Amino acid sequence: MNDRKTSADVLISGAKIVTMDRDRRIFNDGAVAISGCEISAIGPSVEVCEHFESSQHIDGSRFVITPGMINGHIHVTGDPLTRAWLPDNIEADFAEELKRWVLPRFHAHEPDDEAVSAELAALKMLRTGTTTFLEAGTVQYLDRVVEGASRTGIRGRVGCWVEGRDFTDGANQAKLIDDAIRALEAEVAAFPASGGELIAAWPILVGHSTNPDEVWLAAKEIADDNGLGISAHMSPYESDPAWFLNEHRRRPIEHLSDIGVLDRNVCLTHLAHIDESELNLLAQSGTNAVLCPLAALRGAFGISTVGRFPEMAAAGINIMLGSDGFDLDMMRQTHIVSGLFKDARRNTAVFPAEETFAMLTCNGAVGLGLEQEIGSLEVGKLADFVCHDTDRPEWQPLLGVLNHLAWLADGRSVHSVWVNGVRVIDDYQATLIDEETLYAQASRSSRAVISRSKLPFVSPWPVY
Ligand SMILES: [Zn+2]
Repeated sequence: MNDRKTSADVLISGAKIVTMDRDRRIFNDGAVAISGCEISAIGPSVEVCEHFESSQHIDGSRFVITPGMINGHIHVTGDPLTRAWLPDNIEADFAEELKRWVLPRFHAHEPDDEAVSAELAALKMLRTGTTTFLEAGTVQYLDRVVEGASRTGIRGRVGCWVEGRDFTDGANQAKLIDDAIRALEAEVAAFPASGGELIAAWPILVGHSTNPDEVWLAAKEIADDNGLGISAHMSPYESDPAWFLNEHRRRPIEHLSDIGVLDRNVCLTHLAHIDESELNLLAQSGTNAVLCPLAALRGAFGISTVGRFPEMAAAGINIMLGSDGFDLDMMRQTHIVSGLFKDARRNTAVFPAEETFAMLTCNGAVGLGLEQEIGSLEVGKLADFVCHDTDRPEWQPLLGVLNHLAWLADGRSVHSVWVNGVRVIDDYQATLIDEETLYAQASRSSRAVISRSKLPFVSPWPVY
């Protein structure tokens, strides 16, 4: 032992490291040292190994190491246990699909189901390299979701289902607003982020037209007072602009700007149907946009024709990516973003690989207000990173690492994952939970939820 060296808890050397730091440095033969939950050194192997040693010195020569990826919009309940039950040829518009096929599945979850659903969603994310998620605000039993997700070692921001508006005649609107605001206050008090907790609550709103101004303003105030953010769905279809124009004579983003809600700690998801005025308001306010590519395609939002995401990026809007209720492998989402807008604009320069991978990492960290902690690999930041296994066909020959990350590889090559300095995935397996046990629980919960939802199984082909 050389006593001039600093002892690290873990040292990985000989890896190709994509840091996503300010200079976007890539180390072809790089090393990273972990001390506690932080990165204590990163750089060329020869330099790091000159100053650091560890009893856990890992040969990283088969790995590409990247920051942990960030999913900016996911429903950890409702979809993970039941999504595949939906037929893919529903002859109905989205409002009809929501009423007939989506809400019954969400509402059929009992507390145990939500815990299992969140744990399964977290496992799917970790196994494909996502270390941090922002939930979509459709949780019914928040304590159970926190419990389920926490088991896996993932980091997340979650919120319970809060609607302060009821469109039925005779609804007690004042009570609904009061209840909604109390729910937001209670969840943030119950699951604070102030102590560095991995799973914490944000005052998340479902969005669209589900909440009156009082609830939007309360959510923003709670977020500001507690150093948190808010998140909401907005304008996947023309129905949101139509509703706001009818109600307020303003488009949704214009109205949110009028009441003072837009800000750097606000993440709005979908934004497929925004006009020039709304785009400018998002850019001026620093509001974050969350693009969910698969959800947009499956939902036929029209983002390839009316979506303005390249123009939003050019205007300086921070764009992060989300899975919504679909495939949780975020590397597959970059495939779509990388290709969709190139085709839509007939311009191969749109959204190059380096830009889409930034959406998954540093942009996501900015949206969550965690850019000082995660999103890039730098000394003093948290040890949140992914080891992609290059001993696989999709990584060979490894010529352009960004092309592999954005186009050629996906989450199936994620070998190991570290969150807060803890190796939560090792050799393709979760370290903190038993995957087989979880799959059995998920299968039981899934059958029970579908049974309670009373949704029929529809197959286009005969099943025997
Ligand atoms: Zn959603």
